[in-house]
Amino acid sequence: MAKYDYDLFVIGAGSGGVRAARLSAMSGAKVAVAEEHRAGGTCVIRGCIPKKFMVYASEFSHQLEVAKGYGWEGCETPKFHWKAFLEKKDVEIARLSGIYASVLANAGAELIHARAELRDAHTVELVGKNQTVTADKILIAVGGWPTLPELPGIEHAISSNEAFHLPELPRRVLVVGGGYIAVEFAGIFSGLGVETSLLYRGPNILRGFDEDVRSHLAGEMEKRGIKIILGAQHDRIEQTADGLVSHLNNGHSQASDVVLFATGRKAKVDGLGLETAGVELNDAGAIKVDDFSKTNVENIWAVGDVTDRINLTPVAIREGAAFAETVFRNNPTRYDHADVPSAVFSQPPVGVVGLTETEARRSHGKVDIYRSAFRPLKQTFFGGQDRTLMKLVVDAETQKILGCHIVGEDGPEMIQLAAVAIKMGVTKQQWDSTTALHPTAAEELVTMREKYVPLG
Ligand code: FAD
Repeated sequence: MAKYDYDLFVIGAGSGGVRAARLSAMSGAKVAVAEEHRAGGTCVIRGCIPKKFMVYASEFSHQLEVAKGYGWEGCETPKFHWKAFLEKKDVEIARLSGIYASVLANAGAELIHARAELRDAHTVELVGKNQTVTADKILIAVGGWPTLPELPGIEHAISSNEAFHLPELPRRVLVVGGGYIAVEFAGIFSGLGVETSLLYRGPNILRGFDEDVRSHLAGEMEKRGIKIILGAQHDRIEQTADGLVSHLNNGHSQASDVVLFATGRKAKVDGLGLETAGVELNDAGAIKVDDFSKTNVENIWAVGDVTDRINLTPVAIREGAAFAETVFRNNPTRYDHADVPSAVFSQPPVGVVGLTETEARRSHGKVDIYRSAFRPLKQTFFGGQDRTLMKLVVDAETQKILGCHIVGEDGPEMIQLAAVAIKMGVTKQQWDSTTALHPTAAEELVTMREKYVPLG
């Protein structure tokens, strides 16, 4: 008789957990996955996917402006139906969640609808089912969860989780935070016609991104009517007859109908029983793992946001795949976290890969910068004011391209392909030997010949 109920027990049917469970089951392992909510995890249920639908929905208002510039009539009185959109969005999310569940079933992995908590290194309690199961190996893929600061009136605020289900589209919203989620929601609400303000305590939005990207995007967002308030934070939130009033530590206040905090996320480890199994956390409260995603406990691994390495869906998926390859296919595989492309689906969007100028100067010393900020053809036709930014960071000695940064329409679509070349170690000369594709905005990427020298 088998010593354990399962070869592998996965906690969490999100991006990382499902990929790991599927590949492990396909390798012949007896696998179960516990999910306390719905299969698909953050990305499908309350992250990337519904967010992108909202971005698509909201971009139309700007596109209508462009259409007007090209001679279209009847763009003046568009009307957006929030409830109709929400219904459609929920149907599509349910369909995608169902695909995740069937992917597991088709691979022969068992999906258990329950919260799972560790009771020791091999035992898992299925909460509410009055049942414990055992497994030889355990993979923790429980993701992260939004955190809200403690301050008077915080009960009136929402997180990104609730933003996907607002009963009405508010008239005014205050988004708090400077990270990509805050910036994306500010763009969404503004595009949908909501009077939008963005409040961030730091000196500029998108900390950690290239400085040129940060300032260019902030300028473009302001052009589209988003009020950006920097260097201030909440003292308290007051509910009044007319909505909410955010009292800030700079003495000012901001009225809105919704206050959305996107100020941070934490590994979802509370109550998971990690102490009973002896699994260690790092200082940020995420699970500590080695290059193979193994924890300090011999039979327990962790992948995805719960390890707080690079918190993106494709990364969680690749970590999950590397786990299955290592543990169930006898092929030790480290996932390489270098040169992961990423996007901010702000309006306009951002696509980046590799090092920022500041990081490159720190790690490589001398760098060459190529930079272009321009009005794309689509805008010049009708006098539109959107500007695109493209920037390459190049190692002065080896001429390898270390980073590529784009702010502008289709930036995320372009960066996926730039990432292929950069991951392969492309030099500026090889990059420039690629013939431009005309007329596109992307052609600017391979035609930047003059090194950028900042004024002053
Ligand atoms: P998750 O996908 O979070 O899955 C964890 C699962 O575990 C959840 O389903 C949860 O219910 C379940 N669970 C937790 N605890 C237990 C338990 N004890 N028992 C049973 N089940 C449990 N990434 C991108 O790449 N692109 C984007 O555009 C993007 N946009 C985002 C927008 C928002 C608003 C947010 C919040 C995130 C976004 N992300 C994006 C990040 C992305 O969603 C995550 O990186 C990804 O989902 C992480 O996958 P995971 O497997 O680690 O965890």
